Amino acid sequence: MKRREFIINSALAIGGTALLAGCGKKELIKSENQVARRKYKDITIPLLGLGCMRLPMKGDEIDQQELDRMVDYCMEHGANYFDTAYMYVDSKSEFAIGKSLKRFKREDFMLADKSPIYKMNTPQDVRKIFNEQLKKCQVEYFDFYMCHNINKNSVGTYRDVHMVEELAKLKEEGKIKYLGFSFHGTPEILREVVKDYEWDFAQLQVNYLDWDVVKAHEQYDIVQAQGIPVTVMEPLRGGGLVNLSDKALKKLKENSDNSPAAFGLRWAASRDNVVTVLSGMSNLQQVKENIQTFIDYKDMDEKEEKLADEIAKIIQSQGEINCTACKYCMKVCPRGINIPALFALYNQYKVTNNKMLFGIYYETLADDEKADKCIKCGLCSKNCPQSLDIPTLLTKINDEYNKTAG
Ligand code: SF4
Ligand code: SF4
Repeated sequence: MKRREFIINSALAIGGTALLAGCGKKELIKSENQVARRKYKDITIPLLGLGCMRLPMKGDEIDQQELDRMVDYCMEHGANYFDTAYMYVDSKSEFAIGKSLKRFKREDFMLADKSPIYKMNTPQDVRKIFNEQLKKCQVEYFDFYMCHNINKNSVGTYRDVHMVEELAKLKEEGKIKYLGFSFHGTPEILREVVKDYEWDFAQLQVNYLDWDVVKAHEQYDIVQAQGIPVTVMEPLRGGGLVNLSDKALKKLKENSDNSPAAFGLRWAASRDNVVTVLSGMSNLQQVKENIQTFIDYKDMDEKEEKLADEIAKIIQSQGEINCTACKYCMKVCPRGINIPALFALYNQYKVTNNKMLFGIYYETLADDEKADKCIKCGLCSKNCPQSLDIPTLLTKINDEYNKTAG
């Protein structure tokens, strides 16, 4: 925040903090040299949280000293939300972040962890693994706890082991303060899951590249309609929105003072229903830069929203597949295949080389929208202004997906 804005906001200060009325958003709270916070139920949450899936490494082990420095810097600046999971960093993340946080009073930090659905065989496993996680993290309770990665493959187990019922009991016992889920499935599955429980929050992938192209907004809309607050994962699309192409970077620089990371994080944090944005930081430098973004934080204005759309279009059009997402092909496809979404996914994959993210995003598409449903009728190519050989490209994408899945 610029000095002048801080003084204006401070005019409303209550006990050292300044409350800003949100236009349909949850209340934003700012104080000097601290990351902005949002009101959430009866507490406040920092708008930036440390995602613990890409922690600093020394060979095969987590660099605990660097992690401690990162955590210290976060805590000094009010970024006291930490998000880990059972399988992060080869199942070493929980132990490392727990060790680091142990140096602080329990009530001074918020720890989020996730229940690994893939490890469950019986309802008893839910509690057993939960207790293991408490031990690894060296805490007596989790502030935020999620059913991890509900998707087409895991939703069956999630129901079979009565995960919601088991976790609700742990919440009643005070071992979970807020119960939620993280999601990588289709809108159809999400519509069912949101009705399973009075969820306290949902963790979704929200970034300006996927919002329209991969229809990320559909998931966000479903959750918002149910009145469930959102915590954001992958706001920078696995690094894809940090390393912009020359053309996209030029567009950003000509129109904004933000770095690519700051621009992407602010975009995610500016959605109405978002309470925190998690960034998987790997060193102190990244922590410092991101924290500064949220000390200076203000929601995006209309001009910046438009700029994000324009940059997303540039990124899409510059990928290996020169698709402009005009969607003319979709108007004629008898199978309803989501051609521009598939091309955007593929382009991003080729930029980031992140197989896991490619597979996860691919799975968020409905079965009917996927590349293997193409019957090679060729109608789409006749309607494509870029003259793309769409059926051939879809075969290539399907092959690539099968390789990542296999
Ligand atoms: S070739 Fe495939 S993608 Fe194109 S219109 Fe036919 S079914 Fe749809
Ligand atoms: S018609 Fe061509 S450019 Fe337009 S969305 Fe379809 S594939 Fe992309």
